Amino acid sequence: MNDSIKIHVLHTGQVQTDIALPFNNQPTINPIAYTGIFRSKKYQNKLPVSAYLIEHPKGLVLVDTGWHTDVRGNQRKYMGKIHYQINKAILPEGQAINEQLNSMGIKISDLDYVILSHLDIDHASGIKLVKEAKHILTSDIEWAAAKKSPVRYLQHMWEGVDVKTFQMTSSEYGPMERSFDLFGDGSIICVHTPGHSKGMTATVVQREGKFVLLAADCGYAAKSWENMILQGVIVNKREAIESLQWVKEMAKDPRCIEALANHDTNVQPHTIIV
Ligand SMILES: [Zn+2]
Repeated sequence: MNDSIKIHVLHTGQVQTDIALPFNNQPTINPIAYTGIFRSKKYQNKLPVSAYLIEHPKGLVLVDTGWHTDVRGNQRKYMGKIHYQINKAILPEGQAINEQLNSMGIKISDLDYVILSHLDIDHASGIKLVKEAKHILTSDIEWAAAKKSPVRYLQHMWEGVDVKTFQMTSSEYGPMERSFDLFGDGSIICVHTPGHSKGMTATVVQREGKFVLLAADCGYAAKSWENMILQGVIVNKREAIESLQWVKEMAKDPRCIEALANHDTNVQPHTIIV
């Protein structure tokens, strides 16, 4: 068991949005229902915002960072009025990523890698809270997309942070058959799962023929892939369907220990041993 891998599923607060953002199968004729514009408050929903701490024999790896503590102040100013219209951050004391690592006795500088599945605000907002990590990585495709889309992506979140990129190469993994192998031993694979964003990656953590799939925002809950429910924010619908289909197949695989959507209300913080 010594070389087992431990995954801590952490909730770094919640995100509040219109229900049409996570689940775009709502009975509405409003094509921008997911923004909450012209929609009743009764459609507002709170979803957890997950981050994952992986204790791996080769190092400590954090996947996603959740909200920055600055959202506790003037949130509208922090995220701008468009983002503030679409989603609100909820971050109780003690739930920011640095606060949780601290209470686990982990120093930020102990983190060997921080992997950002994609650079949306609820995943990358906390990046400055972990900037002393040894390596902060996202896919080169996501990084390029973020530079080109200043409305969707808040550039100030990573100001002064040394973000490096990884390239995905052709592999057996994912709908695009492209991935990046973090340690070069097949144990942590960042898999290209575009659709929600251009360069999003899901993370496969595997050992001795069993795996856990951290599905990022391919779907907002297990029911997304079980019932093939797309979400409201999509840059490429065909790719979003292919990515969700791939997650569905992986989740059904008998070798799969757990498949986790980042924002699934049915998932509580817990620890998984791979
Ligand atoms: Zn998200």
